[in-house]
Amino acid sequence: MIDKTSIRELKGIGDKTQKLFEKVGVSTVGDLIRYYPRGYDIYEDPVPVSEAEEGRTQTISGAIYGRVQVSGSTKMQVTTMYVKDLTGTMKVIWFRMPFLRSTFAKGGAVTLRGRIVRKRDGLVMEHPEIFYPCDKYADRLNTLQPLYGLTSGLTNNAVAKAVRQALDGMDLASDLLPSRIRLRYGLAEYNYAVRGIHFPEDKEVFYHARDRLVFEEFLAFILSIRKLKDKNEKLANEYVIGMKPETEAFLQGLPFRLTEAQKKVWNEIAKDMAGETAMSRLVQGDVGSGKTIVAVLALMNTAQNGYQGAMMAPTEVLARQHYESITRLFDTYGIKIKVELLTGSMTAKEKRRAYDRIECGYARIIVGTHALIQGGVNYDCLALVVTDEQHRFGVKQREAFAKKGSVPHVLVMSATPIPRTLAIILYGDLDISVIDELPANRLPIKNCVVDTGYRKTAYSFMKKQVAQGRQCYVICPMVEESESMEAENVIDYASMLQEELGEEIAVSYLHGKMRQTEKDDIMERFGKNEIQVLVSTTVIEVGIDVPNATVMVIESAERFGLSQLHQLRGRVGRGGEQSYCILMSGDKLSKEARARLDAMCQTNDGFRLAELDLKLRGAGDMHGTQQSGETFDLKIADLAADTQIMQITRDEAVAVLSADIDLSQPEHAGLRRLRERYRSHDKMDFSQIS
Ligand code: ADP
Ligand code: MG
Repeated sequence: MIDKTSIRELKGIGDKTQKLFEKVGVSTVGDLIRYYPRGYDIYEDPVPVSEAEEGRTQTISGAIYGRVQVSGSTKMQVTTMYVKDLTGTMKVIWFRMPFLRSTFAKGGAVTLRGRIVRKRDGLVMEHPEIFYPCDKYADRLNTLQPLYGLTSGLTNNAVAKAVRQALDGMDLASDLLPSRIRLRYGLAEYNYAVRGIHFPEDKEVFYHARDRLVFEEFLAFILSIRKLKDKNEKLANEYVIGMKPETEAFLQGLPFRLTEAQKKVWNEIAKDMAGETAMSRLVQGDVGSGKTIVAVLALMNTAQNGYQGAMMAPTEVLARQHYESITRLFDTYGIKIKVELLTGSMTAKEKRRAYDRIECGYARIIVGTHALIQGGVNYDCLALVVTDEQHRFGVKQREAFAKKGSVPHVLVMSATPIPRTLAIILYGDLDISVIDELPANRLPIKNCVVDTGYRKTAYSFMKKQVAQGRQCYVICPMVEESESMEAENVIDYASMLQEELGEEIAVSYLHGKMRQTEKDDIMERFGKNEIQVLVSTTVIEVGIDVPNATVMVIESAERFGLSQLHQLRGRVGRGGEQSYCILMSGDKLSKEARARLDAMCQTNDGFRLAELDLKLRGAGDMHGTQQSGETFDLKIADLAADTQIMQITRDEAVAVLSADIDLSQPEHAGLRRLRERYRSHDKMDFSQIS
């Protein structure tokens, strides 16, 4: 019912507000109720003035001290007051509130909550919320105020009000979790939980509510995956692919030996493909561990057996790179397999030609973006589908890819370093291989964190590296909100850097707004070392492989998450030369940002970093946002922090399904609905991937 009611039915929501809500994905009352806060403001006990900390929002309580002053221009009047407690005196200012002078005329005790900032004359509390007389604060103490994800024009207050209205008008919803499960794990009832997640009276209520919702979401999620597993398990192998001597010869002729880990994984794949049932395998390996060659061997062996194999990458740049490197390899070894490229940016005519060659079976290995799974493409005999950088795709896309063939072998590759237990849950329908070793010729990347004062030194270091024949990347900070600002930023930076480095070094740039042909051209020239320094946004984040590049400079490194930093760093250290990662940070680093950058210096191992990330964020992290980069559309559960609940739900899901695989028993009707709801919002969103 609430899922069919538009939010327009709520009081105070007109055209304009409705549009704003739609921007954040809320169109029905049901959406609104499931639009959970991203965090909470907590009204904590007042701190002694002497313990006020710069950069934090805190509460102080004390006596009004001296006279309240109003200064500044009429447009921007500043009210200044001093508050004194046993430990010290705090200066407090308000903007545009001159009337406060009379409000506080009586003096006495006041409680104030606001942000502490550093000014020339020391710490100042800026524009605080006022509790006067100070016992008014008692009502607020320890309450949590929801903070919602917003968009420009939509205020937190507007969302909170709408949610409150929706909850007040909501009939008691029936609980979709069977009471047996609810009681067994001491989970809150649904109606209590939705109210408790939006407006918790205290932390207890919040945790109780959140646990319940996380449990429910994980259970729906895992049930939807487990279903896949049962479907896949019994499927017979329609394409028995034996090892061809050509593939063996190709492997022997490669300029490098496979690492032991690569060999092991390649053997697992070869065995799967020749076995009784269709392959369904995830290859996990840190950045630079050499996943591509393993996939290429599988594709090649498939083609040698007379079938087609396709590989899908999340970006056009990466798809083209794979295409180029495969064709180059095949040229070198005189291998006559037709490799085809298929991406969204190709012209209609180019696409039609590619479709024809794919449909008639002339194209044997097809490399591309999500264009590979779109309507127009029909394969002749698709026996293997490979998804590179799997974490950039959703479960549905992987499925759609497999549906392009008749039960093809499925291989997915990911660098996301998630613990094995978690991977089994996430990719419940897949077997897992791990490449846990880097090629032997690699030297560990040297890392440093520096502030902007070091920039000139970094530039001269880059100059030296280029003089030795090496190449460099510089990642410009993201500019929030606007892609065109981001483009401008990159272009300005590149021309500044060109000036700085001199004419003899070719500097160029890459950003998301460029036409695909331009991007391809730049990447190709960078690959050939015709460009030595590439200034870029994060469009080069995944997969790009230019082994001659040895320097990665990341501007405003504190703005990136750990896994993203690790991916970016993974663009260097891919060859035999010593590589360097220079993390450039702004001046005022929060403690947390500092710790993140330090972690980057502590280790180059993606798995270790993921663990550190988890520690830094802490299991009790109130912001239930999901940062591991997986596209699973979890609204509240956190793959990294909620592993315990995940384990329990996994066991519960297995128990439920083994008793009732279709969830057809009356007791499981709610679970069936939960699963359907989960799957319906796990939709394919092609606009998200460029
Ligand atoms: P990723 O696992 O990040 O996808 P790639 O497959 O792109 O890594 O490999 C990174 C680089 O390492 C490539 O230039 C590749 O040619 C090279 N490489 C792969 N395997 C080996 C190996 N066994 N020895 C040396 N170099 C290798
Ligand atoms: Mg790769």
